[in-house]
This record gives sequence, structure tokens and C-alpha cells, in this order.
Amino acid sequence: MDVEDGESLFPTYSKYPVTLLKGKGSLVWDDQGKEYLDCMSGIAVCNLGHVPIKVKQRIQEQLEQLWHVSNLFHIPHQQKLAKMLANNSCMDQVFFCNSGAEANEAAIKCARRYQQRVLGNLRYEIITFEKSFHGRTIATLTATGQDKVKDGFFPYSAGFTYAPYNDIEGVKNKITKRTAAILVELVQAEGGVYTADLQFVKELSALCHEHDLLLMIDEVQTGMGRTGKLFAYEHYGIDPDIVTLAKGLGSGFPIGAMMGKMKLREAFSAGTHASTFGGAPLATAAGIATLETILEDGLCSRAEKMGDYALQKMLDQLLNYDIVQAVRGIGLLLGIECRSPVAPIINELIQHGLLVLAAGTNVIRFIPNLYITEEEIDRAVEILASVFERY
Ligand code: PLP
Repeated sequence: MDVEDGESLFPTYSKYPVTLLKGKGSLVWDDQGKEYLDCMSGIAVCNLGHVPIKVKQRIQEQLEQLWHVSNLFHIPHQQKLAKMLANNSCMDQVFFCNSGAEANEAAIKCARRYQQRVLGNLRYEIITFEKSFHGRTIATLTATGQDKVKDGFFPYSAGFTYAPYNDIEGVKNKITKRTAAILVELVQAEGGVYTADLQFVKELSALCHEHDLLLMIDEVQTGMGRTGKLFAYEHYGIDPDIVTLAKGLGSGFPIGAMMGKMKLREAFSAGTHASTFGGAPLATAAGIATLETILEDGLCSRAEKMGDYALQKMLDQLLNYDIVQAVRGIGLLLGIECRSPVAPIINELIQHGLLVLAAGTNVIRFIPNLYITEEEIDRAVEILASVFERY
């Protein structure tokens, strides 16, 4: 590709010198015909691998019928996907949007409106966590507990406060009479692959009950089978009020969702929130086919099994390299913490045909599709080992 073509784009992404043109399953090919083993899945989007057949067929069928219709009309696919999500979670209803940031925006708005209009409290503060990531809109970058995403975007949205992760006393210290909700990732994926402790999450849930706060789980990255359960909250035996989704929900077709409990129905009454494209026929066709595939093919337990295999393999074969400090994670959301910044290592891995990505500065994130095989994991670990040897 002519490099100058890129000059018409805002340079918001520092791009790898690779142009990917084709994908199938765990593999992708660039414009030179070079093959790569994809263990980043378009940042946890392609949970079914590339070009999954059932999703492709459903999108093609819908392309023949109707592309877009306003949310002022009933949309059968939207209703079906909402029902499927509700039937497979502890949630009762769904609002559809187009991205993770929008799903979290919906959650923040829904929580505030519930407190202010349904319960009649003037509560608006949302507690989030240090190292969290919730999106790039003004409200969600404010919710994010990382300075680097906020730099230069002052003034921030009011009403957010940050607690230390896995520290219940730290959370208690942040609760005020204005606190409306707690928004938390159960694995801080962008922040460095840190998993929430069982006891911490149970206490967080109890704290929410005690103070009438909504417990909102950001499952934009952890949802749709990634951690070995359909939703990561299932690992913790909790009953959250709101769960947000995006990434893996449409297998690459843009779609986001905020799922919520019945008590929140009045908070999001007609006219309170909207999205032109949210839940349109094509996106919800992709969502239905994705969820059906995950359930029919048992991909949650497969992610658990393959995740355990990959974690053990990495502990056995990578931990002994000088550069590697720790290996951690849950299901197929794994992190290899290194003793130095991983950017140059990732560049080398890509040259050797393995796509992985960074989580923070020092962590390599391993998030392959949920069909990944033991042979593919072995190949990925071999490539990782061959590059680590030089560091
Ligand atoms: N929340 C989490 C946990 C994420 O990992 C991300 C994206 O990486 C987002 C929200 C934002 O999603 P999007 O980029 O679709 O707006």
C-alpha cells in the first residue's frame, strides 16, 4: 500500500508495518501473502475466529432483507438477541448500541437516572478503579483509571472517583452520600491483565447492597466466553445490576449492549436514551449467530480448557526466560508480564508470524479465538520462546 495513503487519516493509532487482507479461523494473511497466527483477535473481537461461517451466512441473509430500520419500529432480531442474552445471564433487559464506550455511557446514564428519578436521590458519583479502562468518550475516559487516556482532554466529566483494585477498604473510603454505582472490570485487560480476587468481588457486591449502589460490570472485553464463562461475573457467584458488552458480541460486526435488571426499567423509559444504529437488523443478526455459535459449540468450556492448557504451557516453558516476570489470567485472556517494555518484543513476534498485543507497558496479552487448538497454542508458545531467548 502507498504509505502516503495513510496521510489522510488522523494518526490516532501507531500502526504496525503490516496490512492484513484475509483471515480464516486462527490465521490471517497480509498483502505479501505472509501468514500469521492471530492471538489478539482484533482485540478480543473475533472470539469465533475470522469469518465464522454461521455469522457470515446470517449477515448475508439479512443483507438481502433489510439493512437498517429506525428504533421507532419493532426489530425482530433485536428482540430475539435481547431475549437470548437475558435467558443466558442474570439480566432482564438490554439496550443496544455500537461500541464498548457507548455501552458504558449507557450504564452511567442508567445508574444516575435510576438514583435520581426512580429512587429520588441526588446521587451521581461512580466509583471506578485505578488501572481500569472503560472507553474514549469524555465520560468513559473520565471513568478510566489511567492518566494516559486523559492527557489533554480537560475538562473531564464530573462525578467519578477511583479506588484501588482488589482493596475493599479503599473502596469503602470512596463511598459518599452522592455515590450512585460502582463500575468494575473483573479482569483489567487493557490495564495489564489483573484479575479481581473472589473475596474482593463478593465484598464489593455486599457493599453495593448495603449502600444501595448499583454494581455495574464492564464485560466489554471479558464477555462472550472469553474467560471460560459466557460472562466473567459467573466466576464470582454475584448478581450484578448492569453488565456491558461489545467486542465479541458481533464477531467483528459493530455492536454494543448494556444489560440491566428489571428494577432499572423505569430509569430508561421512552425518550431517555437512544442510538440511531443501536441494535439494527444487520448487527443483531451477527449477534444472534455469534451467541448461538458460542452456546451450541460449547465455546465457554472450550475457552476454559484451552486457557488452562495455554497458561500451564506458558508457566512451564516461558517463565524460565530472564525477560519473563509472571504469567497470569483466566480462560483465554492471558498476560505475560515482562521485565521491560514489550513494544519491541511484540514487533519481533509479528515478524515471526505471531500476532499478540500489549496490555499496559510491560505485559503481552494473549487473546486468541475460542476455537484455538492445542497445536496452535504450542506454535504460539514456540514463537514466544524463540523471541524471548534474545532478551
Ligand atoms: N471497556 C473495556 C473493558 C474495554 O476493554 C474497552 C476497549 O478496549 C472498552 C470498554 C471500550 O470499547 P470500544 O473501543 O468498543 O468503545
